[in-house]
Amino acid sequence: MDRKVRVRFAPSPTGPLHIGGVRTALYNYLFARKHGGDMILRIEDTDSHRFVPGAEDYINEALAWLGIGIDEGVREGGAYGPYKQSERRDIYREHVKMLLDAGKAYIAFDTPAELEAKRGEIANFQYDASTRDSMRNSLSLPAEEVKRLIDEGAQYVVRFKIEPGIDVVVNDLLRGEVKINSSVLDDKVLYKSSDDLPTYHLANIVDDHLMEVSHVIRGEEWLPSAPLHVLLYEAFGWSDTAPSFVHLPLLLKPDGKGKLSKRDGDRLGFPVFPLEWHPEGGEVSSGYRESGYLPEAVVNFLALLGWNPGDDSEIMSMDELIEKFDFGHCSKSGAKFDFEKGRWFNHEYLQKLPDERLAALFKPVLEANGVNPADFSDEYIAAATGMVKGRIYFVKDLWDQAKFFFKAPDAYNPKDVKKRWSEDTPRIMGELVEVLAAMDDFSSKAAEPVVLDWIASKGYHLGNVMNAFRLTVVGECKGPHMFDITELLGKDETISRIKKGVESIKPE
Ligand code: GLU
Repeated sequence: MDRKVRVRFAPSPTGPLHIGGVRTALYNYLFARKHGGDMILRIEDTDSHRFVPGAEDYINEALAWLGIGIDEGVREGGAYGPYKQSERRDIYREHVKMLLDAGKAYIAFDTPAELEAKRGEIANFQYDASTRDSMRNSLSLPAEEVKRLIDEGAQYVVRFKIEPGIDVVVNDLLRGEVKINSSVLDDKVLYKSSDDLPTYHLANIVDDHLMEVSHVIRGEEWLPSAPLHVLLYEAFGWSDTAPSFVHLPLLLKPDGKGKLSKRDGDRLGFPVFPLEWHPEGGEVSSGYRESGYLPEAVVNFLALLGWNPGDDSEIMSMDELIEKFDFGHCSKSGAKFDFEKGRWFNHEYLQKLPDERLAALFKPVLEANGVNPADFSDEYIAAATGMVKGRIYFVKDLWDQAKFFFKAPDAYNPKDVKKRWSEDTPRIMGELVEVLAAMDDFSSKAAEPVVLDWIASKGYHLGNVMNAFRLTVVGECKGPHMFDITELLGKDETISRIKKGVESIKPE
């Protein structure tokens, strides 16, 4: 590869970035970084009807959150700008003129109603070499008539004049040669006078050429457009520097039956957007960020949807992904969206976080649950977090697992009470309070043997005593090692909880 690698992610700001689009951006980024190339973010906003305010900011924010760095773009600047298509009208106008002058495109005046009528008249009507002579365009009308219509301000479009009967070959790095005959293509609209804007096809090709894009890496849904793009490169005389194509496999529903949709996420309870999306006056869609996913986990999870490193590594940092990434290990068939795997990645990444960082993430959750984090030291919160993190999938799960470190129980699990609390228990707990009160060293290591020896010397049932003890302190018979809990809570709090339990727990 002697050409500098330059790739682009080219979303249209028509709504929140779908998770499939995020994966496309990620693969572009990994490929660019791997080859020391450039990553361009181009905003393709030529479809004025589908423009959604806020979508561009959303795209920027999502990519930044995930650590997908952009080298050239609207915010970043760069030598090939502007990077927003609506700011490149002059460039497109000039290129439309180039095609018109070369006879590779023509002007068409057919109104929507006229086109509709034709469709009613001719089954499977297609605007192409077989029909264009019977339509109202610069090929069928006299030159003066064309001029007159334009001077009068008639609306028109510019169509690509596709020669029929040519084999068009798309070279896809993933799929090999994809061949189709140009006769199946219609004369695509390249430009509309009504809004003085090009269509996606023209703008996309012109920009890829001018921005010296070396590889077009995009979703499979764009494969049908690729033959037209190949023909456009030819028409401009740019075939020698045309980019290589990679059309990535679709993201499929978790059961593999069809394309992943927002409805699947709603139905099965997982987000299909990186960040929460608040449409104007519409329903909020959930995002990975707000659902408690770590960006590193999302990146790792997405990277493996359609690609593998060629060995069985699963947990990979961005740097490792960059090092290992290649299209040789991309699959051609769709990738099932296994959201349980996404949860698993998040669990794994949470385990890797230092307790201090996890504790910082936990603070807002504490606050949301009515606990003032400032009432506890950072060390205390970190220690509590560290003890329970093995059981969590999301930061918010920490509350369920660790709430007793921050609030004495005000209710006791009835099943555990039934099983572990008998008539004798209050008396035994009273003795336990004395044993604990007499201790100088309340650390887990020191307290455990003392309590266990006392239980043995009295001939009490170990499980019953320890579980009743736990019930008073935690509120249920679950949680980390008992003496680790009491060490962190401290002697006074532990004893006060046992006493409160004795007063409040009433066996049936
Ligand atoms: N604007 C197109 C999109 O929204 C870009 C497709 C391409 O990458 O060529 O995905």
